[in-house]
Parts: sequence; structure tokens; C-alpha cells
Amino acid sequence: MAKRQNDRFCAFCGRQEGQVRTLLSSPIANVFICDECAESAHSILEETAAGEKEESFDIKKDELPKPKEIKEFLDEYVIGQDDAKKYLSVAVYNHYKRLLQDKDDVEIEKSNILLVGSTGTGKTLLARTIAKKLNVPFTIVDATVLTEAGYVGEDIESILTRLLQVADYDVKAAEKGIVFIDEIDKIARKGDNPSITRDVSGEGVQQGLLKLLEGSIVNVPPNGGRKHPEQKMIAVNTQNILFICGGAFDGIERKIASRLNTHVVGYGTYDVKDNIKSDNLLQYITPQDLKSFGLIPEIIGRLPIITYLNPLDREALRRILTEPKNSIVNQYIKLFAMDGVKLKFDEEALEYIVDMAIKFKLGARGLRSIVESIIMDDMYETPSKKISSLTITKKKAEEKMSGDNAVRLQNI
Ligand code: ADP
Repeated sequence: MAKRQNDRFCAFCGRQEGQVRTLLSSPIANVFICDECAESAHSILEETAAGEKEESFDIKKDELPKPKEIKEFLDEYVIGQDDAKKYLSVAVYNHYKRLLQDKDDVEIEKSNILLVGSTGTGKTLLARTIAKKLNVPFTIVDATVLTEAGYVGEDIESILTRLLQVADYDVKAAEKGIVFIDEIDKIARKGDNPSITRDVSGEGVQQGLLKLLEGSIVNVPPNGGRKHPEQKMIAVNTQNILFICGGAFDGIERKIASRLNTHVVGYGTYDVKDNIKSDNLLQYITPQDLKSFGLIPEIIGRLPIITYLNPLDREALRRILTEPKNSIVNQYIKLFAMDGVKLKFDEEALEYIVDMAIKFKLGARGLRSIVESIIMDDMYETPSKKISSLTITKKKAEEKMSGDNAVRLQNI
């Protein structure tokens, strides 16, 4: 004998068991909720949570970090690169102000930024450091993984997936966020002429990226990866998202030089006019150079602020070793201090480390590998020894850098 159906009904909508797909029962009382009411309760809770989360990214006018403050903060971690720091600080400050503007006021448009500088000069470091100072969602993505929809690689929309994840899926917060797109030069069109053949990682990707940069509503797969029909998309408006792009643009100096009507002599040496400083031609970069490098004009138009980073000279490398708050040397000092050992580097040893980085053309990235090679044996032995201090002398550094270590570093 079938049970009387009206014994079991949803306590929220009143429908009986036969009228709903699933009826969930309470473990402690004879009450039920149907699948549809449970689902709508779930989405109400999610919306409320999103509202609460927005507060954690709340921006208050009187608490805005001023451009000078932002730059001073960057100075603690990044050596030199004053121009790039200034541009970034102002851009971030303006981004905040734009988010706070009255809707009926003069509409302030966003100014996405392009950072141009050789690899290892601090572009990503600048982006990571500024992120510490921000209270809007921030993410770093690599343009090299992006391909046109339908090809192996990631869809452009995956950029926004990352931002959503950082914002804990709070769409409103993500829509105020900042995205750093690294290696933007890698999606430049190969060659100056638009190709008739497919350019999987070039112009197609730039067209896709353009949609994000100029501000549009984009359907984002919440878990990234390829879009597939079953996946529920999240609509994100990119109008207020600030994009900071970075790239090395290898070889663009030649285009700048020829535009400046200079004569290129051999590799990397330029015979330039008197008033042009030839040590870093990147400082003269213009949209025209970017176009001849292979960025489409529409993308360039959406990156109205272009700034540059300087190559790191000997003095900068030496400062990078010890000056930043979390400098490489400070990090090792901390590691040894945790074993009760006071680690010290002689000035001559530090100079030697810089010499090696220059000799092996490793730049700032190589400094860590060199220091690591020099103190690897000590890191292995010290914890088992009863010593309270350790000094790295030039002699010791030279010893450790002879033989295998030198060969290994030469090949990285
Ligand atoms: P890029 O993004 O320009 O290729 P990175 O920012 O990744 O270079 O730099 C690589 C590493 O070199 C950083 O993690 C940092 O340790 C060091 N470095 C590079 N430039 C600087 C700088 N200007 N100040 C301090 N450290 C730097």
C-alpha cells in the first residue's frame, strides 16, 4: 500500500513529494525541503556572502595610498627603475579614483599601462610588490600560454578566471581588479604584414585580448580551462579592470634606433645623435615602434601609458644583493639565523658574486643561483655543527665557484 503523499511536502513551497524531483528530509524532525527550494536558498546565501566579501576590497577615499607612498613602498623592494615606479604608482592611484568617481560626473577612462624592459630587470617584481599594497584583487598571468579559441593552450578568458579566483568568486570585486599580463611581446604578430595563414598565438590572441582591454562583458569559465557547453559561465564586465602589461620586446631597440634615424653599428652598439642617451634606447619607445614590432594598433591604443625599465648595471646588481627588504643576502642570513648562526658576507665576496653574474650574463636572476652555489655546502653542514657565526670570504666564494658550479652556471 503506497504511503499517503501529502505526509511529505516541502516546508518552504508546500509542494508534495510527487510534485518535486527530490525531497530532502531533516535528520531531526519530520520536515522536508525540495530540491528547487534548497537550490534557491543556496544561491541567496552565495549572493549574501558576495556582498560581504565586497567589503573586504572596499576602497575609502581618505585611505587611498598616494602615488608617493606607493613609490616609497616599491623602493623598499625594487632597486632603481624610478620612471616605471612613478608611472605605476600614478596609474594605481588613478585606478582607485576612477572606482570612486560619481557616476554622473566627468567619466574618467582607464589608462592601461605597458612596461617595456629586458628580461630580469624587475617587471614582474614591480607587479608583485605593488600587489602587496593593493586592496583590490590582483593577478599575474603569462601571455605565452594564451592561444586563439579552439587551439591548444588557454583561452583569453582564463585571464579573468584567475582574477575571479583571487576575488573568491566575488564578481563585483573582480570587476575592480588589476591584471598584470606578462610577456605580452610574445603574442606580437610575426612580421609586419598581416599573414593570410593562421597565426595561432599572434594576431588572433591580440584580437581576443583587445576585447578585455577595451571593456566588455566576457563569459568566464569559473574553473578555467577550455569552455565547454556544460560549464556554467560567469559574466564579468572588464570596463573597470586595470591591465598592466609587461614585455621584453627583444630587438625593438633596433626599430627605435632606425626611427631615431641613427646608425646601428654591429650588435647592440648605436651611434646616436648627441642629445640621445644611448645606454637605454627603450626610453624613447613610441606606439609606432610597438606597431612595427607586431602589436596591432588597436591593442596599442588601449595601452596609452608606456614606460620602460633600465638594464641593470654593475651598481644595480650589487645593490640588489643586499638593499631590498627581502634581498637575497637577507634571506640567507635569516635561514642561518634560524639555526642560531650569524651569517656574514665580506664586501669582497659580494663584489665577486656580482662579477660572476656579469661574467656569465645571468643578470639579477643569476645572483641567487650564484649565492646558492657558494653556500650550499655550508647549508648542508652547519645545522649539524656547533658554530655561532659564519663568514663568506672572497676566497671561499672563489673556491666554491671553481669546477662543477662554474660549468653548471655557465649553462643556465
Ligand atoms: P622580469 O619580469 O623583468 O623578467 P623579474 O622581475 O622576474 O624580471 O626579475 C627576476 C628577479 O631578479 C627578481 O625576482 C629579483 O630577485 C631580481 N630583480 C630584478 N630586477 C630587480 C630590481 N630592479 N630590484 C631588485 N631585484 C630585482
